[in-house]
Amino acid sequence: MITIKSPREIELMRVAGSIVYQTHQYLKKFIKSGITTEELDKLAEDFIISKDATPSFKGYQGFPKTLCTSVNDEVVHGIPSNYKLKNGDIISIDIGACYKGYHGDSAWSYVVGNVSDNDKYLMEHTEKSLYEGIKMAVKGNRIGDISNAIETYAKKHNLGIVRELVGHGVGTNLHEDPNVPNYGEKGKGPLLKPGMVIAIEPMLTFGKENIYVEDNDWTIRTYDGSNAAHFEHTILITDDKPEILTGECENGKK
Ligand code: MG
Ligand code: MG
Repeated sequence: MITIKSPREIELMRVAGSIVYQTHQYLKKFIKSGITTEELDKLAEDFIISKDATPSFKGYQGFPKTLCTSVNDEVVHGIPSNYKLKNGDIISIDIGACYKGYHGDSAWSYVVGNVSDNDKYLMEHTEKSLYEGIKMAVKGNRIGDISNAIETYAKKHNLGIVRELVGHGVGTNLHEDPNVPNYGEKGKGPLLKPGMVIAIEPMLTFGKENIYVEDNDWTIRTYDGSNAAHFEHTILITDDKPEILTGECENGKK
C-alpha cells in the first residue's frame, strides 16, 4: 500500500531527512586514508543519537551496524569493519535515521584522496542519474518515468544498472511501497501524488551489471570486480517541484 503523508508526518520526515543530511556532512570530514569503516560507523551512530534520532539500519533484518559502507566493487550493504580506507578508494555510505517514528534514507559515494578518472566518471554520472530521476518525481508522472530517466541516462553513459536492488517508499517503515526501480518504461507503474515520499537510489557500475552476495549474506559486490557508485535521496512529491528531504535543510527548514 502506498501511503500519502499528512502535513504533520511530512514535518517529521523533514526533520528525519535533515538529520541524515547533517550526518553525511559531519562524516565527510573524516573520510580519509587510515580511518576504518567501523570508526566512521561509531561517529555516525553517536551523531544520530545526539540529534534525538536512532539509526534506521541497525537491527533492520539483523543488520549489525548504523552505516552501510561499500568500498570499490562493493555495491551496497557493506558492513563497517576494521578495513582501513586507503588513497584511491571510493566508498558509498548509506545512512538511515529514524526521528519520532519516521525515517530518512540517503546514500552518497565519496572519494578517498586521489581516485582514477574511471571512478570520477562513474561517480559524476551516477550522481547525475539520480537528479535525472528526481526531475521526474512530480505529481501526475508515474514511477516508470523516474525509472526510465535513470535508465536512459545510465545507458547513454555506458554504466551498468544494478537491477536486483531498487528504490522504495519511505515513512514509518524504512522500506515501503512502491518499488522504484532504476530501469523501466515511461508512463508505467504507480501514479505520483502529493504527499508520497520515495527514496530514489541509482546503483551503477563501471562494468557489467551482474552482482553477487558475499558469504556474510549482506555485502553485495559486482561480479566482474568493477567499481560501483550509489547516490540516494529521500524525496517528497508535492504540488510543485520535488522536495529533497535529505538535501540541504536544517531542522526541517530550507
Ligand atoms: Mg534506500
Ligand atoms: Mg539507503
